Amino acid sequence: MAGTPLKSHIPEILAPAGDPLKLRTALIYGADAVYLAGSRFGLRQASDNFQEEELRDACRYAHDRGKKVYLALNAFLFDHELQGVPSYVAQCEKMGVDALIVSDLGVLRIAREHSSLPLHISTQASTLNSLSAGFWKDMGAKRVVLGREVSMEEAIVIRKKTGIEVEVFVHGAMCMSYSGHCTISNYTAGRDSNRGGCIQSCRFAYHLNAEKSCESKKATTFLSSKDLRAMPLMNELLGSPIDSLKIEGRNKSLLYVATAVRNYSKAKRQFLKQGRVQKEELMEDLERMSFRGYTEANLKEKAGSSSVYEYETSRTSGYCMLGYVVEKVQGQYAAILLRSGFQDSDQMEIMGVGEVDYKLPKGEIRDSLGQKIKSGRPNTVIYIPDSDSIEEGMVLRKRGVS
Ligand code: SF4
Repeated sequence: MAGTPLKSHIPEILAPAGDPLKLRTALIYGADAVYLAGSRFGLRQASDNFQEEELRDACRYAHDRGKKVYLALNAFLFDHELQGVPSYVAQCEKMGVDALIVSDLGVLRIAREHSSLPLHISTQASTLNSLSAGFWKDMGAKRVVLGREVSMEEAIVIRKKTGIEVEVFVHGAMCMSYSGHCTISNYTAGRDSNRGGCIQSCRFAYHLNAEKSCESKKATTFLSSKDLRAMPLMNELLGSPIDSLKIEGRNKSLLYVATAVRNYSKAKRQFLKQGRVQKEELMEDLERMSFRGYTEANLKEKAGSSSVYEYETSRTSGYCMLGYVVEKVQGQYAAILLRSGFQDSDQMEIMGVGEVDYKLPKGEIRDSLGQKIKSGRPNTVIYIPDSDSIEEGMVLRKRGVS
């Protein structure tokens, strides 16, 4: 089948942007593109989704840096909800969005008729094979975000057979069900998983008592999956015809966005420069944030009992986010807004974009009055001497807290 030609360049690193701050963080730390939700028709009904003006600014900010913005319109809609979609997709195109992510065939049809934006088929559509992918291509889609159940080898075959662009998840939370086809939260909390209402019911600890013989004595997290970390496969993924490597997590923290994006982006830079990824160090850094134990999940072999997250044996990060750089005056100072407090004994570092983190010079931290300080409280601004390696938006983390 003809389609987007197999490229000589390597896959893009695609990052979640849950709000404008996370968008900036993702792009600073090296994402090639971000995906986000607008105020309407997305799956994540978070209050910090992008309003119209924020969306316009986000596109401008990304394009100024040669990056792309994909907008999720991936809810499945009822008839009475379709009314506003035509004007919204036309508006998104005017605001500079680079592609729409859709699941619903009705939304796809409207998007085709009311915009010329490229269409990406959401992972919600559970595309697992080349016939499905070919169907979406015939429907006018440019890309499919494959279901997380697909292996790396299967993704490569789908790409080669169909010619449609493929995007695969490389990092983040995994669903125990086929992505999005889960109603546990509907039953346990009256919230619709398919409308962004998932309360992560599968992460809770449950007692198993279906049969006396396998009754569990204490509650366990047997419904919860470990998190995906495809870093061990990055040499193969970056050398493959796959078009986009996606990091999950629009609701995740700023520390998560900075940590995940900088390591996958570093992997890409290493691959471009040396033809190989030095995985060990990058894998280690991915453990400096909260995670539920890591797995390569279905990318390597089909998920099984080894994919289940065992709460008691999981590792904790040992790091937490302290704040981020809100202002830099070249050669003079950098101002950091604290999200958490610190003590003199804390080891603090600004997460670098390149190879080196910037250790905070302890005797040189000042408050807004210019006084040297040995501790700081949340929601205050501290000042440190500027350094060439510091940029606005960089994240400050500290060691010693899980
Ligand atoms: S409850 Fe768990 S399996 Fe269900 S949608 Fe939410 S994360 Fe996925």
